[in-house]
Amino acid sequence: MKVKLFLAVFVLTFLTVSCISQQNKPSKKIVDIAPDNPYLCQGYYHSDKSPYILPFSIGMEYKLVQGNCTRYSHKGFSRYAYDFGMPLGSEIIAARSGVVTFVETDMYDNTRRGKRRHKRIPNARGNTILIEHEDGTIAAYFHLKYNGALVQKGDLVKQGQPIALSGSSGFTTGPHLHFEVRRSNEDRQSLPVTFRNADPGEDFSLQAGNYYTALPFEQDKFASK
Ligand SMILES: [Zn+2]
Repeated sequence: MKVKLFLAVFVLTFLTVSCISQQNKPSKKIVDIAPDNPYLCQGYYHSDKSPYILPFSIGMEYKLVQGNCTRYSHKGFSRYAYDFGMPLGSEIIAARSGVVTFVETDMYDNTRRGKRRHKRIPNARGNTILIEHEDGTIAAYFHLKYNGALVQKGDLVKQGQPIALSGSSGFTTGPHLHFEVRRSNEDRQSLPVTFRNADPGEDFSLQAGNYYTALPFEQDKFASK
C-alpha cells in the first residue's frame, strides 16, 4: 500500500514538473522547417518586415513561374526557392546587402551541364553568385548569363546594387532567375522569404502564375546598425 502511495505521489510530481517545464520552454522559432515533409512551407515574415527586396530592378515586372514547395524542383533543401521568368540579360540586383562569396559564370546558356560543373557548391544550378548577409544566411542567384557577373568574389554589395545579368545556364526549361536564401554556408536548407517592395505584397510566399513589380524601397531598412 505504501509503495502504491509513493508511486502515485512520484507520478503526480513528475507530471507537475514536466508541465511547468513545458510552459517555460522558449517560444517556437519563427522558421520552422519540417525535414520529414519536403512539401511543407511555413514560417514567413510579413513582407513589410522583410529584409529582402525583389532581386530585379525597380519598376520591372516579372512572372513568378515556380513558387515554393512544388513537386517539380522546389522541394527538399530548395523548397523555399523562387523562379522568376525573365528574358536573357535582364538586370539582377542584390536582394540584401552582403559580401560576394562565390562567382561562376563560365557556363553557356541553354546547356544542360550545370550540375556536373558545380560539385563544389552543393545543389547549385548553372552560373551562380552567392552573397553572404550579416546574419550568415546566403542568397543564391542561379542560372545567370554566360559571363554575366557584374561583381567579383569579395565585393561588398549594397541592397539594390546590380550584381548580374539573368540567363538560362544549367538545367532550365527557359530563361529565369532561381533565387533562394540558405541558412548558412554549411547548411544549404533554404529559408522562407518575403519581399518588402513586392507589389502585390504578401504575408506569405509569392504565388506562381502571378506577376510581381519591384517598387521603390528604403535601402537596408532592417539592417542592424
Ligand atoms: Zn528554381
